[in-house]
Amino acid sequence: MPSIIRALPFALVGPLPPALLSTLQDYRRLVNEVVREALSTGKTSRGSMSRFARDRAFALQLTGSHAVVASEIGLSLVRSHRRRLRLSPASRAPYVRRPFVRADRTTFHFDAESGKVRLSLRNGLWCSFQVKVAKYHRETLGAVGVRIKQLHVSPDRAVLLLEFSAPEPFRPTSLLALDTNEASLDGVTVSPGENHLATVAFPEVRAIQARHVHRRRHLARKKATDRRVGRRLLGREGRRERNRVRSRLHALSRRLIETAEFHHSAIALEDLTRMGTPRRRASRVRRPGAPRSRGLRRRLSSWPRRELHRQIAYKAAERGVPIYWANPYRTSITCPRCGEVKQPRSRVGPVFECPGCHWRMDRQLNAGVNIGGIVLRDYGRAELAGLRLDLDALSEEAMRPLYPFERSDGHGRSGGRGRDEFGPTGNRGHG
Ligand SMILES: [Zn+2]
Repeated sequence: MPSIIRALPFALVGPLPPALLSTLQDYRRLVNEVVREALSTGKTSRGSMSRFARDRAFALQLTGSHAVVASEIGLSLVRSHRRRLRLSPASRAPYVRRPFVRADRTTFHFDAESGKVRLSLRNGLWCSFQVKVAKYHRETLGAVGVRIKQLHVSPDRAVLLLEFSAPEPFRPTSLLALDTNEASLDGVTVSPGENHLATVAFPEVRAIQARHVHRRRHLARKKATDRRVGRRLLGREGRRERNRVRSRLHALSRRLIETAEFHHSAIALEDLTRMGTPRRRASRVRRPGAPRSRGLRRRLSSWPRRELHRQIAYKAAERGVPIYWANPYRTSITCPRCGEVKQPRSRVGPVFECPGCHWRMDRQLNAGVNIGGIVLRDYGRAELAGLRLDLDALSEEAMRPLYPFERSDGHGRSGGRGRDEFGPTGNRGHG
């Protein structure tokens, strides 16, 4: 059974004790030393790096088992640096600036009732501090099969890393193929003998972003003479925006997964990590990034999409909902019926029109239909047998709301978050 790691963040009560703060600095130094040693000697084995880290930890008087974790963190930083180097020689050697400590289960004790954490710092020296524990934390920790794996402490918060086993993905009886756009997910639901166009609108995310762009401009103008204050205020605006967007996306991804579970449906999405590469096979795992053009990088960094996909992926894994990642290469300019590709440079308006067979469809829906087509082509004889994409049955007039069940059916957990941001398509404009 695959295991899932999940972070459970806690706010601190009061500042951390000075002894712990200096340990965070030493720990950061240790990780950087591991990185430097690994890069200069070319060593990659866990054994030799952990021996090196243990020696250094002895000199810094850090608890020995901290050294083991520090060497693993250092090595993983080096590994991703080497991976980046293969793609572009411009990758800078990693250097950790923020002080932190990552402690193994054996070196700390956490009391979920009182929120008290005891942590081993140096030989014979322990410290304790307090975190805020909410009902949500207790519920998460109390769930079946959850194990506390590690504790991550930085000057402003503490994070428990939890490990639990993921359920095996269920065998889907339908497919939900969606293209991710700025303000909606658009595509098609495919069940035996039935195809419908579907869309999930989240206009609020774009509205929040627009509002914050406006506010940031205003702030930047107003505080133009005081760079220091201006920068701090801008930073706070950015964090607020991120939190607001993120909580909307959480509500969205949670209900999407609940819907998929309810309908025994697999989900197909475009694999943003593979944009711009013409390899066409869909896959059950996302691939690490490939070199990208500048315009493509800008599009990808409109981060809500990746954040949304990240949330959908981990929530799906937790609930056993199978996910397929389709290469989005040309999905919005390919005709799903005859396979004709509009020349990449020719502008595609809001409606895709096939020059070959005169197929017509909303461009975003068309991309979703193509994602469904790719996944069914690759998996239609295997896990997705019995599902067929019937293009002639699709009609934009008969578009289905994606959430045809009420939340009172017992499938939703408590927190109905008030506003329903993805009702039927008729709601697209609200918000
Ligand atoms: Zn066509």
